[in-house]
Amino acid sequence: MALGCVACPLSSGRTKVVFSAGNPAADLMLVGEAPGRDEDLAGEPFVGRSGQLLDRLLAEELGLDRSGCYIANVVKCRPPGNRDPLPLEVATCRHFLDSQIGLVAPKVIVTLGNFATQTLLEVTAGVTALRGKAYPYKDTFVVPTFHPAYGLRAGAVIVAEMRADLVRAKRHLENGYPR
Ligand code: URA
Repeated sequence: MALGCVACPLSSGRTKVVFSAGNPAADLMLVGEAPGRDEDLAGEPFVGRSGQLLDRLLAEELGLDRSGCYIANVVKCRPPGNRDPLPLEVATCRHFLDSQIGLVAPKVIVTLGNFATQTLLEVTAGVTALRGKAYPYKDTFVVPTFHPAYGLRAGAVIVAEMRADLVRAKRHLENGYPR
């Protein structure tokens, strides 16, 4: 059970386990990296500023709010100082994400940023190189895009590319096949 999990050292620094938000019956799943400070306090993914950008882009490009998608992170507890999760932490937590993907059985997974994209696709290339396409993944497709925190920092050009990626995800939701 994730809520009482003490399987890796991140458990000792967390306030709340951040398991998921949204609708487990949704066709669209979004996967981020790890909870930040706001998420650790709230127990919900993407509730800080980057989450507000994500919510806005989902509403504007897909007409969805959180009841129309399912949101999770690669790791469920906040890494200290918002550092990247360590390989041991990712490996220890991975079964939760795999179970979430299996249970939700989304038509499309949008990975948010390098970390989630590289973890799911098992590649070392960055999201700048990988975005613009859909990648077969288990019974579904991964559509990589930038992390919304990067969108906030980098500005309009990156946000426009995130919008284009969400439109791509929408096409795959409708057609079920990458193009
Ligand atoms: N960044 C993430 O990757 N996930 C969150 O839930 C919040 C910020």
